[in-house]
Order: sequence, then structure tokens, then C-alpha cells
Amino acid sequence: MIKTVVIGSGFSGLAAACFLAKEGYAVTVLEKNSTAGGRARKFEANGFMFDMGPSWYWMPDVFENFFKTFDKKPSDYYTLTRLDPSYRIFFSKEDVWDVPAGIPALCKFFERVEPGSSVQLLKFLKEGEYKYEVGMQKLVYKPGLSVSELIDTKLLSGMLKLHVFLSMSNHVRKYFKDRRLLQLLEFPVLFLGATPKNTPALYSLMNYADMSLGTWYPQGGMHKIVEGMVSLAESLGVTFKYNNTVEQIVVENGEAKALIVNGKREDFDYIIAGADYHHVEQELLPEEFRKYDEAYWNARKLAPSSLIFYLGLNKKLKNLQHHNLFFDADFNKHADQIYENPAWPDNPLFYICCPSKTDHTVAPAGFENLFILMPSATGLRDSEDIKKKFFNLIINRLEFLTGESINDHIVYCRNYGPNDFVTDYNAFKGNAYGLANTLMQTANLKPSIINKKIKNLFYTGQLTVPGPGVPPALISGQVVAQFVIRQHEKSKQREFVN
Ligand SMILES: Cc1cc2nc3c(=O)[nH]c(=O)nc-3n(C[C@H](O)[C@H](O)[C@H](O)COP(=O)(O)OP(=O)(O)OC[C@H]3O[C@@H](n4cnc5c(N)ncnc54)[C@H](O)[C@@H]3O)c2cc1C
Repeated sequence: MIKTVVIGSGFSGLAAACFLAKEGYAVTVLEKNSTAGGRARKFEANGFMFDMGPSWYWMPDVFENFFKTFDKKPSDYYTLTRLDPSYRIFFSKEDVWDVPAGIPALCKFFERVEPGSSVQLLKFLKEGEYKYEVGMQKLVYKPGLSVSELIDTKLLSGMLKLHVFLSMSNHVRKYFKDRRLLQLLEFPVLFLGATPKNTPALYSLMNYADMSLGTWYPQGGMHKIVEGMVSLAESLGVTFKYNNTVEQIVVENGEAKALIVNGKREDFDYIIAGADYHHVEQELLPEEFRKYDEAYWNARKLAPSSLIFYLGLNKKLKNLQHHNLFFDADFNKHADQIYENPAWPDNPLFYICCPSKTDHTVAPAGFENLFILMPSATGLRDSEDIKKKFFNLIINRLEFLTGESINDHIVYCRNYGPNDFVTDYNAFKGNAYGLANTLMQTANLKPSIINKKIKNLFYTGQLTVPGPGVPPALISGQVVAQFVIRQHEKSKQREFVN
């Protein structure tokens, strides 16, 4: 059997492991932490269950396609609930929107805000649908290794319609005027880790994902997806080893022969690195075998890091939904302090997930589970003082905006900041979401899945194609596994011919 190792049990590593095991490879996943899931781990405390990272379940088709390859369905592992409203937006204390699920309800909603905008919304989403379909069929499942991958008649003939060279910011302004509608339509690109001005309008496909495909929630939490994938992987014969930190990749005669794991050498035929790309290259590989140098990494635009608070409250809150976006501060100022002039924000936007609104298993009865996330620039170091400052600022604003007492009801609190991303995931500059999806960091322009200096080492995860987010991480694992399988078949054929 072909001995293959996957470094890291994030979504990309889990997906790669499943695809390789299905083809008969002997797969071991080595994970430095004590549980699976990487940035999507969970923890339990005082009767609460917290998802540590992702909370938005978008693009259900990607999960369906993944499980379908193994003759499974998401429902074999978890039950999905469609959220309605999809989310709540606080523009101010008086101006609070519940964004409804489903196109007819959205059209009515838009029309009330800006007369005529429902017709515009339908046109806008039709374009988004085209981009989503072309993107899914022709772009994201590609390894991003050659320009020839992009030579496809549908892709080329539709290039203008894909709006690759138009910014998201300009694109939405062609359709809508109301400041709040613009913010609503620009918010999904924040998932891509860049500002709407720097994000190609290709990514209005995210609006189609949001509004047409919907916002879902797996009962039991996002970690149910991880549990499902681990269970699938184990059924395919994958071995998981936790608390196994990879310390070095041993290269001999141009091949990655082995890994040093917790001080011991283990030999493998193929190595798939699902840990942060920068860490693998700069810290695990000898310098002469690195594909990129530190200057390259420092020139990359990273998606933000985050300051997170996991709270348990001993009461129910009336004025929050499952997902809540706080847009009551100046977005441009906060974005400037994330991307252009990195600094802790003066007046941040933030996001709160309250999964106990939908799921009674994540908090004791009558209690509420809150996940508070404030995006921040990468490369900053946090401290107890900084965390305390933002905690107080956010809780005060939250109490003001919701008109509810919160501070006095906190029975559990844990914080998590950029330093933790570095310690827990070896995250470059403490990034939470990998690389920003700017035009110059899209598709073939991302760090490559191969290393030409080492023929049996491959990379997957949110710092390579197709990018950040749970669905892209699943796709990344699939893309790299299928590439490895093809490469292996080719090398067997060559050996046979010779
Ligand atoms: C706070 C937060 C909120 C998010 N919200 C959403 C959301 O709502 N929806 C969405 O779709 N996406 C969201 N994302 C993004 C999404 O979670 C990530 O893009 C995705 O989980 C990344 O998966 P990955 O496999 O690339 O990396 P990771 O999950 O980071 O996996 C890499 C793994 O490698 C391990 N590792 C590192 N170094 C070593 C080593 N030397 N040896 C062994 N193991 C090692 C790490 O411990 C980790 O388990 C969010 C991310 C964060 C951080």
C-alpha cells in the first residue's frame, strides 16, 4: 500500500484523507492538537458547547457533493436547519434588519427599503448564479497549476460576465443606492478576507450563495461536520494520531522521505501538508527546498485575524437572532485598520453567533451561548489588557443596542486572540482565514499545491487554492488528493514503460 501522511486534521486535511483512502492509499493524519477540526474545533465547558471557528454553513451543495463521492449524504451525519431570518443586522439601535430567507421574501424586503430594488435584486442574483455555476464547474476544482486550466470556452466566452476586473464595490453600486442595502450585499465578501474595493465582482457569487442557496445550521454545531468527516475517514481506513506535532520534513534525493514527529522519524511515500502553508515551508522544510521565501510571504495580503469571546449567559436574550452583524460603526475605518494601516481598531464592527437560539444542546436550558468575533489585522500581538478593553467595549455596545443586561449574566467566558492562532495552528501572523481573495491572489496566483523541488510533497488548505472558508477547504483537500492520485498513476505508467 502507498503510505501517505496528511499533516493537520482541518477540513482540507480531512477531505484529502478521505479521497486518498477511497483509492486504497494507507493514510495517516497527524494532528498537533488533541482533537480534530483545526480552526473548526469545539470545546465544552460548564454545560456549554462552543464551536471555536466557523459558524456560517453556506454552499450546501459543496458538502452534498463531497459526501456523495463516498455514497453518503450530509444527513447521514448531521441534520440541517435553514435559518429564517438568515441573519440580523444592527445599523443602529433604531435601525435593525432581519434579513429573511427565500427570494420572494427578500424581494418584498428590498422593495420596502428602496422602491424598484426587487427587480434589480433578481438581475443581480441571476448574474451571481451564473458566476457561481461557472466558478464551481470551471474554476474552483482546478489545481491552479497552469494557465491552460483556464482555457475553456465557457470560461473565456463568459469572461466579461464574470466581472473579474470589476470591483465588488463598484458592481453593487450599479444596482442599488441605499447605503444599508449596499452594506448587506458587500458583507459576504468579508468572508473572503478583503475589502469590497479590492475584491473582484466575480465574488458576487457569494450573494447568490447567501440569498439563493441559504444560511443553514447543522444541529449540534458546525463540529458535527468534522465528526462526520472523521467517522467517514475512519470507515475508509484512515488512522488519526492526535498530539502528534510534525517537527521536520526529511528530504533525501529530492524526495520528502520522512517526517520527524514528536522527535521520532516516520517514513512515507507521499506527504500532504494541510497545516498552514507558511509554517510548513518556513519551519518544517530545509531552506534550500522552500518554494517561497519570507519576502514572498510578507508581500501577501492576508485575511484578518480575530479576537473572539466565548460566553455563557444564565438567561435568554430577546433581541438577538442566531447570526447578528453589528454594522453600527464606520466600516471603512475598521477595514483601514485591518488592511492598510494595521492597528487595533478604534471603533470595531463585530459579529455575534447565538446558536442556542436554534439548538438547545449547546447551552443548559434557559441559558444562552454567545460567540463574539471582532476581525483584526494580522501581525498584531494581543494581551490581557487589550482583550479586556475590547470585551468591555463590545459588551457595552451590545447592551446599548439590544437594550438588555448582559454583563451581569455571564457565567462562562473564554477569550481567544491572534496569539492563540499562532500557538494552536502555527498561523502565519496569527491569521484566522488564510489569504485574502484579491485579484492578484486568485486561482493560479495563489501559493501552489506543488513544490517543484520535492516531487512527493503537496499542499492543501486555506492558504492555497481555492481559498478561505469551509467549502473551499473541502474542495482544496479533494483537488490535492486527486492530483496526487493522477501523479502516482503517471509515475507507475512511466515505470512500466521503462
Ligand atoms: C474564527 C473563524 C471563523 C470562521 N468562520 C467561518 C464561517 O463561518 N464559515 C466558513 O465557511 N468558514 C469560516 N472560517 C474559515 C474556515 O474555518 C477555514 O477556512 C477552514 O476551517 C480552514 O481549514 P484548513 O484545513 O485549511 O486549516 P486548519 O483548520 O487550520 O487545519 C490545519 C491543521 O493543521 C494542524 N497543524 C498545524 N501545524 C501542525 C504541525 N506542525 N503538525 C501537525 N499538525 C499541525 C493544526 O493544528 C490544524 O488542525 C472561519 C475561520 C475562523 C478562524
